[in-house]
Amino acid sequence: MEEQLNLAPCGYLVIDPSNCIIEMNETLKQMIGAEKPLTHMHELLTVASRAYFQTYFAPSIKMHGKVNEMFLTLKSVSGRIPVLMNTAERNGRYECVLLPMTVRQEYENELLLAKRQAEKIHRETAEAYTNLQELLEEVEGKKQELEKLNVQLQGLTITDPLTGLKNRRYLDEQLPQLMRHSLEAEKPMALLVVDIDHFKNVNDTYGHPAGDSVLQELAWKLQAVTRDQDTVARMGGEEFVIVLPDIDTSGALEMAEKIRGNVEHGEWKHVNITVSIGVAAYESGDDPASLFSKADEALYHSKNAGRNRVTAHGVTQ
Ligand code: GH3
Ligand code: MG
Ligand code: MG
Repeated sequence: MEEQLNLAPCGYLVIDPSNCIIEMNETLKQMIGAEKPLTHMHELLTVASRAYFQTYFAPSIKMHGKVNEMFLTLKSVSGRIPVLMNTAERNGRYECVLLPMTVRQEYENELLLAKRQAEKIHRETAEAYTNLQELLEEVEGKKQELEKLNVQLQGLTITDPLTGLKNRRYLDEQLPQLMRHSLEAEKPMALLVVDIDHFKNVNDTYGHPAGDSVLQELAWKLQAVTRDQDTVARMGGEEFVIVLPDIDTSGALEMAEKIRGNVEHGEWKHVNITVSIGVAAYESGDDPASLFSKADEALYHSKNAGRNRVTAHGVTQ
């Protein structure tokens, strides 16, 4: 063999059609480091490469007279060596050039590993994103539930459970605003305190549940008589307060008289009742406490004057 070919920077091999090795250059011998000369192609290849070689080499060389870029793995004393093999037929023999690609394969393996890791990270990121979405939806659901509960709770804290009317807390919060609004708009405003006459007798005679029913019926009647803009609240016990915006003393007296008459002549499930009413018109300088106490004073006069009547503060006293 020519020296140039013998020491060329690639393996060189000549085999016959039965794959017996006829010649091998020095470079290839050093590459595999075999102690004794190899006689058959199979001795050169790993088991997997041998199977691949047997399957594709012979048909390919017979059909095309050459084989290009066959990827094989050689056995060597220092381990496996990946090579690309090109083969051409000449004078009934096959000349093979084997180019080692250890570095390139390591590089490809690293690339493959990096690709798999990137795919894994991508999968995990997508999973984490889906989980996050689910969590966000859950949080949003809980937030809405909480908001709903808060609205319900807010409703409960300002509602009288027996009658469904607004309660004292609501009125304590709202009255200062209503008074301010009346002052700013320069419109009159009045407050009624409605108290059931001898309600204790109702409980004593007909029982507490009948008393409760009377309180509920009175609540409905008060709401039926008053206007949309009026606030009807149960202050506790058998005492109710009605705030009447845009109404002067005579208008408030008219409304109070209407309520009194409806109660006296209305239909009742268990027992007929009457109410006494105190009326107070909002005057400049009034605060919620003074307005209440004026209405209370007027109520006191209604009670003292025999009950089932209406008194306006400062009008009849
Ligand atoms: P007056 O004409 O002077 O107002 O007499 P009254 O009996 O209506 O007033 P009093 O303050 O003596 O009695 C009020 C009664 O209201 C006593 C109490 O048992 C009753 N009461 C208070 N809250 C409720 C309630 O929620 N349900 C029932 N059934 N009764 C109640
Ligand atoms: Mg009473
Ligand atoms: Mg009372």
